[in-house]
Amino acid sequence: MAADRPRTDAATADILLWQTGYRIVLVLLVGVAVVALRLAGMLPPPELVLETVGEDPADWLIVITTGVYALLIIGIRMYVRATRRAGESLSTLMVAADIALVFWLAFLLAEPPDYHRGLLVALFSLQLTHVYFGRAPALLMLVATAAGYLLLTDVAVRHRAGVEWTEALFTLALFGIGAWLVTRVQSHLHERLANLVAMFERAEEGDFSDSYDVAADHRPDAITAVGRAYNRMRGQLATIVLTDPLSGCFNRRGFEQQYRRELARAARAHTDIALLAIDLDHFKQVNDTHGHLVGDQVIAEAGELLRASARAHDVVARTGGEEFAILAPDTSLDGAQHLALRVVEAFRRRTFAEPQARVNITVSIGVVSDSVRDDGIAEALRARSDEALYAAKRSGRNRAVLWSQGLNALRLNQSGDSATVQ
Ligand code: GH3
Ligand code: MG
Ligand code: MG
Repeated sequence: MAADRPRTDAATADILLWQTGYRIVLVLLVGVAVVALRLAGMLPPPELVLETVGEDPADWLIVITTGVYALLIIGIRMYVRATRRAGESLSTLMVAADIALVFWLAFLLAEPPDYHRGLLVALFSLQLTHVYFGRAPALLMLVATAAGYLLLTDVAVRHRAGVEWTEALFTLALFGIGAWLVTRVQSHLHERLANLVAMFERAEEGDFSDSYDVAADHRPDAITAVGRAYNRMRGQLATIVLTDPLSGCFNRRGFEQQYRRELARAARAHTDIALLAIDLDHFKQVNDTHGHLVGDQVIAEAGELLRASARAHDVVARTGGEEFAILAPDTSLDGAQHLALRVVEAFRRRTFAEPQARVNITVSIGVVSDSVRDDGIAEALRARSDEALYAAKRSGRNRAVLWSQGLNALRLNQSGDSATVQ
């Protein structure tokens, strides 16, 4: 479960730092308050304590216990501050110390019928432990709490201090149910939050593929609102982050994402996938003759033309300055060949950057198609399409070349026939 993923050492260290601060202040306040109340005679030791440890030792034990606890927490704090790391063992140690302190103080201060107050304090701590340290320390706390309460009950029953086993076990069972409910609700919240965090992290890397499933939240709450806001942001950001503003095609990042996704899909369905590497011919001359602004206009129109030539579910991307790629899912070599020829032909017929300039430009295309058995083929397909593109450039441009084994690539000439390029 995502909520129970181990926290990183650095994150636990941060939590321990602020929590140890609170604990030190709290235990010192409790220690001072208890001693003051004792001195004022407002908090006499319970009968059971007088019987088992005596009056004076009881006072000293309060001071020693709170002192030892404070020293332990200060030690943990200093260690974490120095190393900036903290594993589960440190948080577990602190949780164990908390429970030991709660029940030891309950023994020293409370009348035996009031021991259940220790369970109330433990329930509160359990919730915090679960939120900040995860399931394992919370489980340990639950067991330690039950053990502490049973131990105190045992001592009280044996000294006939007004405690019955049946009543104590009933109270413990109520505590168990409460603890289970609290941690269950919290786990669910954590899981949904962790989901959202993972989505934000993927978005940070430019992956906007997942949206928050608002419909799955039968009782919408604040997390649902954040999820909804994420979905709105996702729509806008995905366009900005994954699209090339000049050509309107996917940019390299968008292409990589689509490429990975389509390869995985093709691997699952055992279908072919085709990749066309497209480069505008002699584009430098366009810039040199007409200037960069016209060059930009040509790139923008070229992107539009490529999208119009491709099918709706083909992925058209601008992968470099005047370089494009078309990824055609579920497309055999035959289909890829037709697509490539359609593109070559479309560029031949088109005049770009009108009316301010009349630019005629052609394209060279490297074509590859293969069946996908696993997505390890990604790099091979890319290298082959580049090889075929290079062959198209070498053999005169304004054409598509089909990659074949050993780069005995086939050239598709103007009429669509094929010939070997050497
Ligand atoms: P080839 O047929 O061998 O591909 O020749 P080429 O001139 O197209 O190739 P080359 O790699 O020599 O030059 C590519 C040119 O594309 C150079 C660069 O200034 C231009 N270019 C790249 N990106 C842009 C852009 O965004 N806008 C404009 N106007 N020009 C660009
Ligand atoms: Mg070029
Ligand atoms: Mg180029």
